Amino acid sequence: MLKLLCVTAHPDDEAGGFGGTLLLCAERGVETSVICLTAGTAARNRGTAKTDEELAALRRAEFEASCKFLNVTHCGVLNYPDGKLDRTDLYTVVGDLVHRMRLLRPHVVITFGPDGGLTGHMDHAMAGVFATMAFEWAGRPDRYPEQLQNGVTPHWAQKLYYATADLLLPDRQPIAPPTVTARIEIGKERFEKKAQAFQKHTTQKPLFERVRKNLGERLGTSEMYHLAATREPRESKFEADLFDGVAED
Ligand SMILES: [Zn+2]
Repeated sequence: MLKLLCVTAHPDDEAGGFGGTLLLCAERGVETSVICLTAGTAARNRGTAKTDEELAALRRAEFEASCKFLNVTHCGVLNYPDGKLDRTDLYTVVGDLVHRMRLLRPHVVITFGPDGGLTGHMDHAMAGVFATMAFEWAGRPDRYPEQLQNGVTPHWAQKLYYATADLLLPDRQPIAPPTVTARIEIGKERFEKKAQAFQKHTTQKPLFERVRKNLGERLGTSEMYHLAATREPRESKFEADLFDGVAED
């Protein structure tokens, strides 16, 4: 069975950033997983939550509802500090992701690029940096060798992609986005489902209108990616399918 792993920073990134791709993969029988590094407690929009703990609980439940709606097979929210991923220990977070990659054994990994995606969010950028190092190191027996016991073996995914776009959002900090090397056509129906998945994040209701406008009017029914690394060396070619050339191990 082919497997896809998506690494994000906040509950709601899976829907807004990767929703169409996750839906499309699940429809094709690909097992999809989402690992979200923070519970999103630095959010301005807090719903009914009075404390960070209450907000974390709400956002974890919303994330699960969104992932279920997107037919995601495995999903989890980790406990790294929202808004501070750039000051979180790299060796620790990457080790955590390496361990999860060695257990989940994805063929394709998708995440944000070091630009932080369309919004340029620092946590998105760091999620991409951590996931990139984990992609490179999960397959190496000399990295985190203490994990290699009780049946855990090195695992090297075949392709790593960064979410990107062929446009910039106004009123944001400047970013330099990774080149578009793949354009996934998700179609109108999946676009609607992706927007509905975002709306499972009810604490973020004040954002719904703006996000829908950004997704709908700017990106439309495309999700764009940059092929950042491949297990087998290759020349670049433009793709319409993230599993192009991927074989079941
Ligand atoms: Zn985010």
